[in-house]
Amino acid sequence: MIVGIDLGTTNSLIAYFTEEGPKIIPNRLGKHLTPSVVSVDEEGNVYVGETARERMSLYPDTVAMTFKRGMGTEREYVLSGRKFRPEELSSLVLRSLKEDAEAYLGVPVTEAVISVPAYFDDKRRKATKRAGELAGLKVERMISEPTAAAVAYGLYDKTQDTRFLVFDLGGGTFDVSILELYHNILEVRAVAGDNYLGGEDFTQIMAKLFLKKCDLNLNDLTQKEQVRLYKQAEKAKCAISDEDKVTIKCLIGEEEREASVGYREYEAACGELLAKIREPVKKSLSDAGLKLSEIDEILLIGGATRLSIVRDFLIRLFRKFPDTDMNPDEAVALGAAIQGAMKERNEMVKEVILTDVCSFTLGTEVVVEYEEGKYEDGLFCPIIERNTVIPASHTERLYTVRDNQTRVRVRVLQGESRFARNNLFLGELNIEVPRAPKGEEAVDVTYTYDINSLLEVEVKVVSTGKTQKLIIKGQDNTMTEEEITKRMEELSYLKVQPRDHEENRLVLLRAERMYEESLGDRRRMLDRGLMRFEAALDSGDEQRIRKTREELMDLLEDED
Ligand code: AMP
Repeated sequence: MIVGIDLGTTNSLIAYFTEEGPKIIPNRLGKHLTPSVVSVDEEGNVYVGETARERMSLYPDTVAMTFKRGMGTEREYVLSGRKFRPEELSSLVLRSLKEDAEAYLGVPVTEAVISVPAYFDDKRRKATKRAGELAGLKVERMISEPTAAAVAYGLYDKTQDTRFLVFDLGGGTFDVSILELYHNILEVRAVAGDNYLGGEDFTQIMAKLFLKKCDLNLNDLTQKEQVRLYKQAEKAKCAISDEDKVTIKCLIGEEEREASVGYREYEAACGELLAKIREPVKKSLSDAGLKLSEIDEILLIGGATRLSIVRDFLIRLFRKFPDTDMNPDEAVALGAAIQGAMKERNEMVKEVILTDVCSFTLGTEVVVEYEEGKYEDGLFCPIIERNTVIPASHTERLYTVRDNQTRVRVRVLQGESRFARNNLFLGELNIEVPRAPKGEEAVDVTYTYDINSLLEVEVKVVSTGKTQKLIIKGQDNTMTEEEITKRMEELSYLKVQPRDHEENRLVLLRAERMYEESLGDRRRMLDRGLMRFEAALDSGDEQRIRKTREELMDLLEDED
């Protein structure tokens, strides 16, 4: 059984393939979404998902979120004084999903297809793979998120060639991808995005409107008040799509403050954010060499595409209704599960060939004669451009620049700058050419780049046919078995909480937070409810625990 996993910035999901098609596996709380949040307390107890997120208001120093952004970097997160790398935190989320799937399916889950953003470079993909390995999962394949969404929408099954745009607005990232289905090959043609734009920015705007209306300054709020306000703003943001007006209430100091925000007012305040959406759309289209009118379908994924103001904006921008049949949160995980089934050669799914794009430009350094006798050196000449579909092979012919030049040096570089010095040096080749007047001798430089990040550089002297080759391997930082075992041992002080008490833990945390947020009678009621529940937990009597938990949950539901 190969499961599909969407390891998201805000939420993660796990899915499997059944006879009726792909299905999301519910987590230990019975929910489809597991927040990508991890908390580690002083004793090394690990909390993942909703429980970890709930700890944010009470123990902010023990919680990490949005660590997907740090994947493939040296960034470290400190939780209760202990350091963690982004892939280690991701592995804890993966481990939790794996356990949920095993409990639900009743079989061990050891293989997975994990989705990654299309723009993730090799380093970030490898870090994702490592996260899987640390969680005890063999990651046979990674699928880019827009491709997974297209696969989930069944677009790979179309008989006609189709071009589509996948618009993905998640919690903290925004990605646009142009895909093309051509003769059974599903190809990512271009990707663009903004790593710092997402649903959370829309929440910030809501919070700012509240502060302005209540004449408050964010910096005057305590950290807990800020977390509380953010939570209320998030609720209001989700509610405003169906209402003309929303009311935000928040306890600041000893006083409950309140403000109302209208739909149009909110839309106007989000004007700048909406404008930012336009750029990556334009860029991806121009990189793919397409016009908006040439796009056949628009797919929406990512939780923030549920916002009506975003949808209204998109309809105006595209002059077309986007495809919204699918739950925007679930498409990627379902697509990854289908890819898992394709990999297993499940006869229910047609196999399509998925390709990828190179997310950076590969080129060489050149000297250019811009006027007779005047040269500018150190310039960068792209050979395989960013967003080229891989595997790819391209050739550039370069001429000698000096009379009687005897050698040509080919420096292999990666990057987007016009100047060679600003790009990353990968290697170099030197080849002899016959003496001749400048411009009469030439070399053909061929770059071949494949899906496994292997770059082959071949230089051929046009006049003599002499060739030289260089193979540059993308940094392979897959961990060895020993390294994984070692790191797992190092992390073994972590005490992963048993699955079965998750609901109790969550209710306790939520009640503690609500206690802090309320006053007077309500506070006393919560206190009594909490004491009864704690006494039941101490007794170990399952029936009593269930009864007191339900009573406490009823109290919480009134508010949350
Ligand atoms: P994702 O990263 O795809 O899970 O998206 C998470 C983002 O979607 C968060 O910023 C959520 O606030 C946002 N979101 C989820 N549901 C809704 C909704 N009904 N309306 C507006 N935004 C939503």
